[in-house]
Formats: sequence, structure tokens, C-alpha cells
Amino acid sequence: MDNIVDSMGNWRRTHFSDEIKAEMDGEEIIIAGWVNSIRKLGKLVFIILRDREGMIQIVIPKQKVSKEVFDIGKSLGREDVIGIKGKVVANEKAPAGYEIIPTEIKVLNRAESPLPLDPSEKVPADIDTRLDNRFLDLRRPKIQALFKLRSEMLRSVRNTLYDEGFIEVNTPKLVASATEGGTELFPISYFEKEAFLGQSPQLYKQMLMAAGFDRVFEIGPIFRAEEHNTRRHLNEAISIDCEMSFSDDRDAMATLESVVHNTLLHLNEHCKKELDVIGVDLNIQEVPFPKLKYDEVVDIVNSKGVEMEWGEDLSRAAEKALGEYMDGFYFITNWPIEIRPFYTLPNEEDPRLCKAFDLMYRDLEISSGAQRNHIYDLLVEGIKRMELIPENFGSYLEAFKYGMPPHAGWGLGADRFMMIIGAQENIRECVLFPRDRQRLTP
Ligand code: ATP
Ligand code: MG
Repeated sequence: MDNIVDSMGNWRRTHFSDEIKAEMDGEEIIIAGWVNSIRKLGKLVFIILRDREGMIQIVIPKQKVSKEVFDIGKSLGREDVIGIKGKVVANEKAPAGYEIIPTEIKVLNRAESPLPLDPSEKVPADIDTRLDNRFLDLRRPKIQALFKLRSEMLRSVRNTLYDEGFIEVNTPKLVASATEGGTELFPISYFEKEAFLGQSPQLYKQMLMAAGFDRVFEIGPIFRAEEHNTRRHLNEAISIDCEMSFSDDRDAMATLESVVHNTLLHLNEHCKKELDVIGVDLNIQEVPFPKLKYDEVVDIVNSKGVEMEWGEDLSRAAEKALGEYMDGFYFITNWPIEIRPFYTLPNEEDPRLCKAFDLMYRDLEISSGAQRNHIYDLLVEGIKRMELIPENFGSYLEAFKYGMPPHAGWGLGADRFMMIIGAQENIRECVLFPRDRQRLTP
């Protein structure tokens, strides 16, 4: 391989592509990135260089550069990695009002040809090919923009929760038994025992309420061995979980609303470029979000011609019917106790109901939460009602015997939240390396 240098040497990048302006006419700069496209005319080579922040045009006129620079320029191929030292030259005819004329080019690495996937987005590819070649797929500006939004979403969620007095925690993902029954777990071998990958930090968050942390949150993976293959489920997902003491279901809903609302405001203010690249116009919905009672939901769903009996969980058809009726974010409250997890606090006025809620966006559930049951005897009853065995909840149950404050909380699916922010139909688009029934690599 010719010309390859093994590092930037004593070069230090001076700018990202989007920091260069026509007013910098005459300045020397160092930039680095990938050859997004290249056009070779007889005495002129045009390169579009791509870095994290965008694209920039490099012009290499034979008469104005050294022979070495021209020869290297001519030898380049798509997706080669290069560093360029050059001058900014204002030029009204150039698309950006200026171009870069190199004085030196370093070939940092060559890309083999043909490419298994075209990062310049000229050739469309199906999602499986894209995910198989995900590192190349991720070079596409639209896809990168989505993950920059995701990073800013997480920053904003953290900021809101820190501002509201939450402490960030990390709980184990290797667990000895099922959290709540219901969903299937991934068994793993743990030395001479069987263990599982955690499906939710629920029980740990609650134990931290007994530990006196008052308000905690965790952003971490949840693992669910569900066999479904849908566009909104993965077997590994990221959950934004929070739990708050001396609080009830209404407090938890208010916190969830501000997390969502502040995030939309933050993205709208700080991520104009990324939203533009993806072509998304964020609708900043005012708080409080509408609240529907479960009873009303049953009526709405039935009125749309989808059968739903009182006491049933929402089927996919029911969610879709509801999504036709409701726009934007809304809560569903006053759920029947039988279809919520054992740790949910029953409603004191109507024992058939409980203090659970879901946050929906049209037909998509993005969060489930509740005021929790903090009374030991009621909790044991709840465990038995779900046909689970209280003895299996040893250290969790202990935490309720020696001073557990009333508390509430929720889990918000980070990947589903991104589906809404990025207007994506398939959750796989919102995850760098998604895990589903068929996919365990890359
Ligand atoms: P669904 O009914 O849509 O399968 P769920 O009620 O089983 O979801 P919860 O246990 O309530 O999910 O989890 C809380 C949140 O975590 C969900 O609202 C969702 O945003 C997210 N979540 C749960 N399971 C998955 C999954 N398999 N893939 C992606 N996100 C998930
Ligand atoms: Mg749920």
C-alpha cells in the first residue's frame, strides 16, 4: 500500500468541517475524515470530505499544488481516511462560498473496494444489509444524526432528574431470580448455579427507597427473552428507570412529564442541525399530558370496532385503535389490579383498581409506572395473587419490614422514546447494535 502514514504525526486537527467559513479566507487549517466522494478530471480533483459534523469540498488543481499532493489526490478512493493541511480560499462559485486547497495530504488508511454498503446514501439498502454492515451504515449523516439526538436526549433526561434531586445509581444485571414473573428471562450459567439477565431494576430501585436514598434513577439495559419479533421490541433494551420516596402516582407522572417535555425543548433548542438532517419537526406538547382512565380506554377501543373486555391488557389492535383516537402523549390511569405487577399499590377507593399508569404516544407504550405497594402484608398478598412464591423474594421482602417509605416510580424505554423523537417506525433504527430473535451480531 502506497502513501499510507500510520498517524497524524505532529498534525493536530484545527477544525471540524462545519467550523470553516468563507471569512477564514487565507487561513491554514488541518481537517481529517473520510472521502465521501471523489471526482477526477484531467487537471483537477474534487473531494468531498466527510467528518462527524458534515461535509466539506477539497479542490486539488494540478497547477496550484505540488506534484506529490496532486498524485496522492488522484490515488484516493471512496471512504479512504485522510488528513488534509490546506488553505481556505473564498470562492463565490463554490457551493459553500469557499473551498479548501491542500498543501499536504496524509493518507491515514485506505478503504477496500467495492464497499459492502454505500455510506453516501446514493444506493438504498434494506435494514438487514445495513445492520450487517452497521459501522458503515452509521457513517451516513442521517443515521449519525439520530445517535447524536439520542446522546442529547440522555443528557437532557439526566439533567432534569439531577435538577429534581435524583441520584444516579447502578444495580446488578446478573440476578438470581425473576423480577416480576410474566416476561421470559434469559438464563445464564453462573458458576455452579443458574442465574438470569435482569429484566428490570424494579426490585433494586425499591430496596434503595428502604435504604433512604429518597430519589434514584438508573439508565441501563433490560433483557427480555420474549420471542416476539415486532418493530417496537428488542431482547436487549435501555430503560430509564426512576423511583421516588414520599411520593404518589401523581408525583411520578409529573416527573415523567417534565423529563419528556424538557427533552423535547432541549433537542429543539440544541439539535436544530440534527433534526434538519433527519427531517423532523418536533412538536413540543404542553404539560400536563391528557389522562385517560382505563374504563374510558375500554369504551374508546370498543367504539372503534376492536373488542376489549374490562380486565384485559391492551392488545396490539387495541393500542392501534386508541392511537387513532389520541394524538401525541397521554397517560392511561386507573388500571385493573390483576393486569399490573404485584408491587403495584391497590386503589383504596376501588379495590379492583390500582395506582398504575402507562405513558403512551399515539399507539406506542413508552413507559409504565405506579405508586408501589410499601406495606409488607399487602405485598405478600400481591405476590400470591400473581401465583408467585413469596420465599423467592427473600431480601426484597425484608426491605419492607424495617421502615419502607411510601414510594412511586416508572421505567421509560429509551429506545422507544427515540422512535418518537426521530419519527422512526422500527426500534432497530434507534439502537447502535440491536439484539432481536434473529440478530446477535455485530
Ligand atoms: P409492551 O407491552 O409494549 O411489550 P411492557 O409493558 O412489557 O411493554 P414494561 O415492562 O412496562 O414493558 O417496561 C417499561 C418500558 O420499557 C416500556 O414501556 C417500554 O418503553 C420499554 N420496554 C419494555 N420491553 C421492551 C422491549 N422488549 N423492547 C424495547 N423496549 C421495551
Ligand atoms: Mg408496560
